[in-house]
Amino acid sequence: MINDKINNMVLLSFINPLSEEGQEIVKKKGNLEDVFYNNDELVYIVTHDKRQNISDDYLIPKSYADLAIKRIEWFIERKNNKNFINDDYSYLLNEEIAEADIISFHLLSQAIATNFNINSRESRLFVESQGKLIEERLVKLMPNERKEIVNSLLNQLIFDEKISWIFLKDLVASKKISLTDLVLDEGKIILNKEDFINRFGDKFRDRAPDRMYDIIIGDSIKELILTKMIMQNTENYLKKIKEMSSTIEIHPAISKLAEGITKTINKLNAKYSDYYGPSGQDGYMKIGKLIKEAFPPCIANTVEGVSSGGRNDAIVLLLTSFISYARLYPGIFKNEGVDVKVSDIDPNLTITLNEILPLIYEAADNCSPPLFEDQPQEKINITSKLGFGMHNNPDLENEGETKWYTPMSCEKIKMHLPQLCRPDKTCEKIGNPLSYYSRAKWELQKQGKTKQKVENQTENE
Ligand code: SF4
Repeated sequence: MINDKINNMVLLSFINPLSEEGQEIVKKKGNLEDVFYNNDELVYIVTHDKRQNISDDYLIPKSYADLAIKRIEWFIERKNNKNFINDDYSYLLNEEIAEADIISFHLLSQAIATNFNINSRESRLFVESQGKLIEERLVKLMPNERKEIVNSLLNQLIFDEKISWIFLKDLVASKKISLTDLVLDEGKIILNKEDFINRFGDKFRDRAPDRMYDIIIGDSIKELILTKMIMQNTENYLKKIKEMSSTIEIHPAISKLAEGITKTINKLNAKYSDYYGPSGQDGYMKIGKLIKEAFPPCIANTVEGVSSGGRNDAIVLLLTSFISYARLYPGIFKNEGVDVKVSDIDPNLTITLNEILPLIYEAADNCSPPLFEDQPQEKINITSKLGFGMHNNPDLENEGETKWYTPMSCEKIKMHLPQLCRPDKTCEKIGNPLSYYSRAKWELQKQGKTKQKVENQTENE
């Protein structure tokens, strides 16, 4: 019985490192001197995990800092590596590492909050990886244990079982949860079977209400709310640390960890640059400098300037999306559904501010009359189409407020901007200006007509 209790306490903090139990563990830790030291206990647990692949020493985290970085590495590998092997990271789902894992979570929070923006790719990867870890750790539990842990954690987080959707407004506002995921009754979220049966029991004629509860709500909504709430709380925790960090001196170990995180993310981004910039005509082409000679006629015409009719759409919708994707993520249509932001590829916005925007602004200037002369608000619309909200300039703080607008198809261009479409031979083989660009760029490189070699993504970091 006592053992069960201890086990549950460990599990609570393993799923939610921000829980009271988790905070207690961190308080006991105290100093940061040994963050990078070999941790024999951790190594022992990892190497004795029955499923863990121990054939390569690289796979074994040796210290708290190592474990913190491995959490991020696991998430990126899992998302991008088609041959991902679960057993390379089996220990991350083993609750025996709970104590070290909680400490590494708090170290990551410190390092990320004090060194990066809240909307940076580092912050996003950390929060998303936490969500994914929760999901996978819950799946590993026995059904009863899983139910008990989810209910305990939800009770800790919500207090009152009849939560109002207003309580979850942060989650809805940040699009972590959709109201359509939830069952609502006069503004209250229905989570309990009893409430569901009392409220809707007489509405089902052909099926038993408790069976309907399992289908409509079941445990999955509870787990979804729990996961998203912990992700939201992790984000709030980062904000809190950031606010406090201006008054505290950052420990060198935390700065060193932040460097390690960036290095790992950059390394993996380079490894999976194919994910961000896949092939030209069946060949292999990574992202690289823009090659204007490969622009399709509609884009070349827009860059030269457009006269008043269609000027706004040509610059804001057509050119902004084309230039940004051609430069940063030419493979968007081969990876549709993937949620990529500009800063995933251009973390400090160096390329966006120095290459992409100048080209768009120059084209806007070439219009007659120059676009911003009579319509200065279009700068805000360009920022918005890059995913940085309704602001004058892109800023990491605002990224995600709007969506990064994907390039228009030829069909749409022909319909809305027919004056720009002057198809040539290459146009016969494509359905989108971006595909034209990849194909033409590949052809030029094949013929040696461009100096640009296949470039490595690391140039962007
Ligand atoms: S066919 Fe497509 S790529 Fe070619 S000019 Fe027309 S819109 Fe542009």
